[in-house]
Parts: sequence; structure tokens; C-alpha cells
Amino acid sequence: MDVSTAVAIHLSRKPFKTIPSLFKRLPLVLSQQKWLMKQLSRRTFLQNLGIGAGVAALSSFNNKEGQPNNDKKLNIALCGLGRYAGYLAEGLQESKYCKLAGIVTGTPSKAVVWKKQYNIPDGNIYNYQNFDELVHNKNIDLVYVVLPNAMHKEYAIRAAKAGKHVIVEKPMAVTVSDCEEMIAACKKAGVQMAIGYRLHYEPYNMEMKRLGQQKVFGQVRLIEASLGYGGSQPGEWRLKKALSGGGPLMNLGVYCIQAHRYILGEEPIAVTAQFAKVTKPELFTEVEEAITWQMEFPCGAVCNSTSTYNCSIDRLFASADEGKFELSPAISYGPFKGHTSKGELNFPVINQQATQCDEIAKVLLAGEELPSHISGEEGLKDVKVLQAIYEAARTGKKVAIV
Ligand code: NDP
Repeated sequence: MDVSTAVAIHLSRKPFKTIPSLFKRLPLVLSQQKWLMKQLSRRTFLQNLGIGAGVAALSSFNNKEGQPNNDKKLNIALCGLGRYAGYLAEGLQESKYCKLAGIVTGTPSKAVVWKKQYNIPDGNIYNYQNFDELVHNKNIDLVYVVLPNAMHKEYAIRAAKAGKHVIVEKPMAVTVSDCEEMIAACKKAGVQMAIGYRLHYEPYNMEMKRLGQQKVFGQVRLIEASLGYGGSQPGEWRLKKALSGGGPLMNLGVYCIQAHRYILGEEPIAVTAQFAKVTKPELFTEVEEAITWQMEFPCGAVCNSTSTYNCSIDRLFASADEGKFELSPAISYGPFKGHTSKGELNFPVINQQATQCDEIAKVLLAGEELPSHISGEEGLKDVKVLQAIYEAARTGKKVAIV
């Protein structure tokens, strides 16, 4: 029996939960629960979390009677122990519904340190060569791929083939066809995949989404979303096209595209773009140093963005018919600051990594389908836009997004 058949046999259908039980289960802490209840209508709330879609449950998350095992945590293995994996590991220490249960690393010295620091059993420590042995490990439920962008595809597919759910960091992959292969592999294996869109669980950003989509200040006419930082170092994988797929657009631009999409609630139809002049030719031999682009949406809003490796910017700004709303910092790890025409925004500061992982874990532990706003299809949409922006910058022409 192959892995996908074995996993499929373990899947069982569960009835939809009642609305009251969902509300009890969703937010992490009371302050967030109150905030969400206040800010979102019940309908929007359920739509945002993708509830109502078809659901399937892994039997390991149920007890012998087939009921959900309330003590069960989602066991996560982090794959690639770099800088962001460190943030995730700290977040997982705070999480309620998941556990840092395993690691995948190509650096033996990191395995020693992480094993001690996070109490990881030897049996849950892997490298890139023996990764596929995960298929035999019932103590890992999900692999979180935190590798350089061009490696996402291989490890997401290998995780799926090992019967594990997957979270893949942004950008989902470096080409549209890679994304499509990842989606197909997860479907074939009967596992679920999420993209690490942490801002979808972050109150300030979700307020920007609500203000835009619910037209609280009327129709949005203009959005500026930009992210950048300086200080790139020679030899970084982010400067090597084969590993990164591109420069700041791949790394940071994806957040800006997301912001335009979730503020407007629409999909872009065309882009124009310009590469900035390279000011550090010794560093930027393979990828752009900075890029500016414009997106067209059906509503006609003017949407501008820059992503750059040569200066610092972290800002979301939206102007609508009857007011404006903005965040700065907006996209980094916070704390965020924001205000609207009606005053300051004031939301709880959360651990973004803990919140994101917990919200994903709750859905998987309940045997439900992950919401579409963090799905592989969502990641694929962003990669299509990224590719169109590069084409527009290369050719100097407007590129339609199909
Ligand atoms: P790092 O360079 O800090 O870490 C990447 C890790 O991948 C390395 O430490 C290494 O871990 C492993 N690796 C395996 N092969 C290679 C290779 N050929 N070159 C370099 N590293 C390799 O990167 P980040 O942690 O900053 O980024 C990883 C991913 O996370 C990226 O996709 C990035 O876009 C995303 N990210 C997301 C953020 C978010 O806020 N959502 C923030 C930052 C990054 P080991 O030694 O264990 O093998």
C-alpha cells in the first residue's frame, strides 16, 4: 500500500460543528475573542476562517470512540533551522495547540543545540538525506518548511509524500508550476497545505482588511504598500537567484501584494513595474536591489508598492472616499502602529507565530479543512502576480494577470 492510500484510509468525515462551539474554539485569548467578535460580523468571521467547507479528520487526532482528543497537540517539525525558524520555535513555546516536536537540519551542530533547548527526542531529528523516513514517524503531524524559497517545492512535496500536513513559508515557491506541483502532491497524498501568511491572524492587518472590504470609509481609491530594509550581506541566499527566485520582490513584495488583495477583496488584473537603479553592484549581481510596481484592480483603485534591499520602509496606507487608514510599522513582527481618520488603532499585541500556528492547529486537530485564505491556491495567486511584475519590469510593458 502506498503512502497516499494509507493516509486516505485514515481519513474520516466529520459533521460540521455548531456555530456556538466554533466561537468557543476559535480565538486564543479573551481579549482577541472580544476584539474579533466586535470587529467582524458573524458571517464574515466564519467566511474568513473558511468554515463550512468539506472536512476530513486524521484518525490520530481522535480518541478510540472517534471523538476529538482534546489533549492532543499538533506535533510540528521545523525544516531548516535558520533565523525565521528561531521565531517560530519561540512562538511554538507559547502556543496552546501545537508543539515543536521535531527538526530537520543540514547542520549537525544545530541539531545538538535545538535538541537540548527544546527537548527534542533523537527519533524526531532528521536531515535532508533521511527526511523521507518521516513516513514512519507517527509523532510528527506537520512539517513546517522554512527553507530558502527555491527549496520549498521539494520539501513540501516530500513532506506530503510522507503523509504529513505542510506549512510552507512565503513565497510559496519560485515558479507557478512549482506551486501547482505542490498543490497536486498534497491533494494526492490527502494532506493539507498552508502558506505561512502570519498577517492573516494579526489584528491590525485584519482591521485594514475589514476597513477596506467593508468600505467603512467608502470605496478605497488608493493603496500604498511598501516593505524594505538595508544591510544585505555578500553570500546571502537571498541574493542568489537560484535559491531565492529573485530579490526583495520575492522576499518582501509578496506581503505588499497580499495587502492590496486583502484590503480591496479583489484580484489584480494587470501590472506595470520598474527596477530601480542598482547602487551596490558588488551585491546585486543576480537579483534586483529594489523594484516599484503598480497593480490594476477591477475597482480602479491606484495601487503602488516598492520592495527594496537598500532602505527601510514598512508601511500600508489606504485612502478612501470618506477617510483614510494606515499602519506603520505594518508588516514586520510589530508592535504595529496605526490610525484612521477617526483616530488611533489599538489592538492587543500578539505573538504572530504562536497565533498563526495555533489557529492552523485548531483546524487540523478538529479534522476540518484549512481556510482558503492561507491555501496553496492563495500562494499560487501571489506567485503569479510576482512573476507578472518581473515580466513587466523586464519588458517595460503592462502585463495582464491570467
Ligand atoms: P535563513 O537563511 O536564516 O535560514 C534558512 C535555513 O535553511 C538555513 O539556516 C539552513 O538551515 C537551511 N538551508 C538548507 N539549505 C540551504 C542553502 N542552500 N542555503 C541556505 N540555507 C539553507 O533564512 P530565513 O529563516 O530568514 O528564511 C527561510 C524562509 O522563511 C524563506 O522562505 C523566507 O522567505 C521565510 N521567512 C518568512 C518570514 C515571515 O515573517 N513569515 C520571515 C523571514 C523569513 P539548516 O542549517 O538547519 O539546514
